[in-house]
Amino acid sequence: MNSPTIAVLTIGDELLNGELADTNTQRIARQLGDVGLSLREVATVPDDEDAIAAALLRLTAGYDALIVTGGLGPTADDLTARAAANAFERPLTLNDDALRRVRDFFVRRERPMHPRNEKQALLPRKSEIIPNPTGTAPGFWLQHNGCCCFFLPGVPSEMTVMLTASVLPVIEDAVGLPLLLKRLHIFGLPEPEVEERLDALSLPASVRVAFGVEYPLVTIKLKADGAQADALVAAAATLRVAFGEYLVAVDDETLPGVVGKALVAAEKTLALAESCTGGLIAKLLTDLPGASAFLERGAVTYANAAKHHWLGVSQRILEGEGAVSEACARDMAHGIRQQARTDLGLAVTGIAGPDGGTDGKPVGTVFIALATAEGETVRRYLFHGDRAQVRLMTAMMALEWLRRYLSQSATIIGAAQTDRIDQG
Ligand code: ATP
Ligand code: MG
Repeated sequence: MNSPTIAVLTIGDELLNGELADTNTQRIARQLGDVGLSLREVATVPDDEDAIAAALLRLTAGYDALIVTGGLGPTADDLTARAAANAFERPLTLNDDALRRVRDFFVRRERPMHPRNEKQALLPRKSEIIPNPTGTAPGFWLQHNGCCCFFLPGVPSEMTVMLTASVLPVIEDAVGLPLLLKRLHIFGLPEPEVEERLDALSLPASVRVAFGVEYPLVTIKLKADGAQADALVAAAATLRVAFGEYLVAVDDETLPGVVGKALVAAEKTLALAESCTGGLIAKLLTDLPGASAFLERGAVTYANAAKHHWLGVSQRILEGEGAVSEACARDMAHGIRQQARTDLGLAVTGIAGPDGGTDGKPVGTVFIALATAEGETVRRYLFHGDRAQVRLMTAMMALEWLRRYLSQSATIIGAAQTDRIDQG
């Protein structure tokens, strides 16, 4: 199986003058990576018709596929279609299908269409439309010099939808046998340790292994050719055993998603009391459609007074041990569970930094507490990293507590292990 050679061309002055980071290329590279493909070249040119045309000619001559983003809009600086028409000697023609799609967009939004938007239906002759479900500019693709050349809008959200729905399937078809991929998401082990554990296993030779890190999770990617499905299944089974409790999700699953499903399956309700995460746990859970089936409330209790009035944490604890303490976390979890009358109460309190640390409680000190009908469990952690990392790690660790509790795992993930996660 020969992988096609693929290049990306992004268009826009802002990408070259530092106003805008080129996230489109990153997104394309990741999506291709997920199906085992990688980019050979990335090029960026300004909003200049000749520069665009020259890049199109050079890149279509050198690669099997070219993905172009930007410059499909209705304004004067959107030159991509015209540059392609000139470069490939295929005059711009009004594409009826494209015009209908642009018009439909405005009808759906009950807005009048500006005549300038008609320009977006002018495409190089013999182009195929790439539908744009969320914006006005239809994409298009054409073959030139044996290269499949895809043109997508610059707006990242539109680009992404079209890439997944229309471009990747065409590229995958061209590759022949689909590449099989299994992703296993690991939480609680640093990357080197994941690698060490993998090295100790004997996996089928036809299965390739790659890594990805999406903090604080490590993803193991298993890849195999389409004919090797059995080998992939066997390898995934081996990894399941080897990683046990550290395997928290597979493929498109996320840790919050797994927790949400487990709560629904167990018919348990949840209330949250968050301090240092400021509602992040609630955010991660309410990103899931249908979260109301299990989430009763989430209280952001930042000040001592809030912890006292809303959760019933005693003044004695707040003034004595302090808001970042085992006793406070315990009472927060207990208090929110009582208030909300839920099956579970989950609380976090900690010092996210960069300031506020002391010798006894350095930045990154976090207490997590879970209240259930059987009582409360509390644990202290020391997380590393900047404010955002400490907050995210705290939220994910709290979710991992729920996952382990609901899977009836006896083990709470240990503080010693989390130290190593951050250093890894
Ligand atoms: P529009 O119809 O909005 O004009 P377009 O296809 O003409 O879309 P551009 O005008 O090139 O696309 O870009 C639209 C916006 O998309 C830019 O202002 C920028 O915010 C964003 N954008 C463009 N290219 C990229 C890129 N490579 N990475 C991230 N964002 C991008
Ligand atoms: Mg534009």
